[in-house]
Amino acid sequence: MPRKKLIAANWKMYKTPDQAREFFRAFLPLVASHTRDEIAVCPPYVCLPAAVEAAKGSKVAIGGQNMYWEQEGAFTGEISAPMLLACGCTHVIIGHSERRQYFGETDDTVNKKLERALEAGLTPIVCVGEVIQEREAGLTEEVLRRQCNGAFRGISGEKAARLTVAYEPVWAIGTGRTATPELAAEAHQVIRHQAAKALGDELASKLRILYGGSVKPDNAKALMSQEEIDGALVGGASLDAKSFAGIVKY
Ligand code: PEP
Repeated sequence: MPRKKLIAANWKMYKTPDQAREFFRAFLPLVASHTRDEIAVCPPYVCLPAAVEAAKGSKVAIGGQNMYWEQEGAFTGEISAPMLLACGCTHVIIGHSERRQYFGETDDTVNKKLERALEAGLTPIVCVGEVIQEREAGLTEEVLRRQCNGAFRGISGEKAARLTVAYEPVWAIGTGRTATPELAAEAHQVIRHQAAKALGDELASKLRILYGGSVKPDNAKALMSQEEIDGALVGGASLDAKSFAGIVKY
C-alpha cells in the first residue's frame, strides 16, 4: 500500500501569534480541498494555541519543534510531551540539525525524546542528515546509520507505527542547495534499511521518510515524485501561505 505523504512546515523562530493567525487565514482556503497528503505546521511554542485555534475544523495538524523527555519538573525553558498534547499538538519535530548544532542535542537525547513522544501518542518527526564535510568525505551512509541506530535504540512495538523520519542534509537547509531527488532517494534507502534492522521489515516498509532542505514550490514535484520520498519538511518556504500551499499542491 502506498504511504500517504506528509508535508510539514517548520517555522523555526519566526512569527508571533498574530502572524500565525494571519498565515492560517491565507493558507487554509488554499488547501481546503486537498486530501491527497497530510499537512502539519510546527510553529514556535508561543504560537501553538493560536495555530491550534486557527486550524480547528481543517485537516491541518499542529506540532511542536522540540520537547523534553520528562513529564514535568525543574527544567527551565523546556516543554514536555503532555504539554504539547494539552495545547492540541499531534506532531513534534525531534533532533533537528539546528538543535544538534546550537543546543547540544545528541543521538542519545534524540532517542530519549523519541521514546517519550511515542509513548505520549505524538507523531514524532525525527531529523537525521549529514554535514557537508561528511558528505564530501564519503561518510553520509555511516552518519545516517549512526544517527538512526542511536534514535531507534530500544524502540519497538505498535507505538513505533507513528514514527516519521526526515532526511535533512545539513548543507541543504536554508542554503538554496537541494539534494537531487536521486541523491535524496539513496539516503532514504539507507534510513529504511536501518529502520528494518531496528524495527522490523513491516514497520520499515510503512515508515514515512520525508525530505527536507530548501524545498520550494518549483522543486517539490521532482522530489515528491520519487517513490522513496514520503513528504517534505519545509523551513523557509513554509513561512509564506502561498509558497507553502504551492509545495503542498506540487
Ligand atoms: C528545516 O528547517 O527543516 C528546513 C528544511 O529548512 P529549509 O526548507 O529552509 O531548508
